Amino acid sequence: MMSGPMNEDIRQLLVLQDRDAKASRLEAEVESIDPEREKTRRDSLRAQQVVEQAKQDHMQLEVRRKDLENEAESKREQILKYSQQQLETKKNEEYQALAREIEHVRQAISELEDRELELMEEQEAFKAKLAEANRMAEESKASEARTLSEFDEREKNIEKELDELDDEREELVKTISKKTFAHYERLLDTKEGRVIVGVDHGSCGGCHMKLQTQEIVNAKSGREMVTCANCGRLIYYTREMVMADELD
Ligand SMILES: [Zn+2]
Repeated sequence: MMSGPMNEDIRQLLVLQDRDAKASRLEAEVESIDPEREKTRRDSLRAQQVVEQAKQDHMQLEVRRKDLENEAESKREQILKYSQQQLETKKNEEYQALAREIEHVRQAISELEDRELELMEEQEAFKAKLAEANRMAEESKASEARTLSEFDEREKNIEKELDELDDEREELVKTISKKTFAHYERLLDTKEGRVIVGVDHGSCGGCHMKLQTQEIVNAKSGREMVTCANCGRLIYYTREMVMADELD
């Protein structure tokens, strides 16, 4: 067969390179899903922790309030005791001293009750905070579940697409000469997916080193595979490729 300006290997290699680029984009996308999953889980966990903290803070207020209540209760008992002593004493002086003592304790009780009230108000304000934290936690839990299942779905779809691309590759590779394909495979990782490149103003489209005139002539003819003497990339002639397509 009289080969056209662009040989069939180049044509197939360009398809292969395009396919491989797509596959590596998809692989990178799959790899990005796990960190996103982790982030979603962390965000949700953080919202739960806010709730836990709010609950603990609320409980601590309750403990402090109970302490004050107990303290006030024991002071009330003290007053009862003093009152009893007042009834029992016959000395006026002692009676007055107990009365002063009782008044003193009463004042202490009143202060305790004030603090108790303050704490109750604080607790009341806290209820709204706790409710808000609960709402946020539930929301983020629901959004976590939704987001995670979206990630699963996306991952499944990409894996499927990658499988299809693998099948495509197998078929493509069969159409490319073994020598050319081996060259392509060898450079694929080191050249970041750009193994076959066009001539760019007389230079290699990959490394931008000037090509020999003969190399350009060869690339133009498309009858043999030209490689860049500097970087080893496979070279094809862009304008010829467009022409060939137009002539088809
Ligand atoms: Zn080069």
